[in-house]
Amino acid sequence: MIITLKKDSGEKQIDNLVRWVKSLGLDVNVSRGNNTTILGLIGDTSKVDIDLVNSIEIVEQVRRIQEPYKAANRKFHPDDTVINVGGHLIGGDNFQLIAGPCSVESEEQIIAVARAVKAAGATVLRGGAFKPRTSPYAFQGLRDTGIHLLLEAKKATGMPIITEIMSIRHLDLFEDVDIIQVGARNMQNFELLRELGRLKKPIFLKRGLANTVEEWLMSAEYIMSEGNGQVILCERGIRTFEPYTRNTLDLSAVPLVKEKTHLPIFVDPSHASGLSRLVSPLSLAAVGAGADGLIIEVHNDPEHALCDGAQSLRPEQFAALAEKIRVMLPLVGKKDIK
Ligand code: PEP
Ligand code: MN
Repeated sequence: MIITLKKDSGEKQIDNLVRWVKSLGLDVNVSRGNNTTILGLIGDTSKVDIDLVNSIEIVEQVRRIQEPYKAANRKFHPDDTVINVGGHLIGGDNFQLIAGPCSVESEEQIIAVARAVKAAGATVLRGGAFKPRTSPYAFQGLRDTGIHLLLEAKKATGMPIITEIMSIRHLDLFEDVDIIQVGARNMQNFELLRELGRLKKPIFLKRGLANTVEEWLMSAEYIMSEGNGQVILCERGIRTFEPYTRNTLDLSAVPLVKEKTHLPIFVDPSHASGLSRLVSPLSLAAVGAGADGLIIEVHNDPEHALCDGAQSLRPEQFAALAEKIRVMLPLVGKKDIK
């Protein structure tokens, strides 16, 4: 249920209303926008008397929300959520480029790629340390060492870092990681989501391989319902009947998600297509669709990459793409990358 308040509502009256709602055993999310204040009621609102609420002086309108996601719902929070990662803003009219290798392989590799993507305009460095591989015999990532090497690259370049968590048992290792990624395979690992919801750190939530937009937003809701509102969504392709590409990029999810939620949304054209030659056109399409950023795999030697070489751009290809993206940004109402 959402309660929209009248423009001139006083702080004291708002406080009284919030206290009364809480006394009914409900949680309240107070969203103060430029024009109106909105109270989002979370919990079992079936017993709330709508007529009674409507009769309160400062109440403009009361509506029940049909969607099962509440905190993530744009009706609760009409303004875009903007997240600050090491001084770089994510969401709203900002645009960010996250780039780096699929996996951290060595100190030389991660630092070389970090320097190259930073010079090309990337603002956040990616690199997998714990890798979710289909085969237990495939390279599983450098694990703890991978995170230490990412931290070295962060020190060398000043770039904030993002890396995937696969188990809550590893959480201590993520203390200095700037954004924690939840991979597609863990999108519905609800225990993991709940634990991440207790952190004060941005969570990058990738869409599951075969999940609907509503299921994805419900996963965001798991994180938010524990108190962590810093969720960034990422469309990374879904599984369809098409075998030419690794997945099928669901670009319609971008404007749709923008309508349904206030959370930022990124696109991952690398895992969506699995083919480096498709990464540039899909990236530009994602910018056109209104994405808040891209996460792109870049490797300095894709032929010898330990993971996902076929979908990785070389640094110079990434630099050329970043230039084209910059040309497009004003057309979609986004500020330059910074
Ligand atoms: C990744 O980003 O390295 C990754 C494994 O992605 P996804 O979870 O989207 O497959
Ligand atoms: Mn990968």
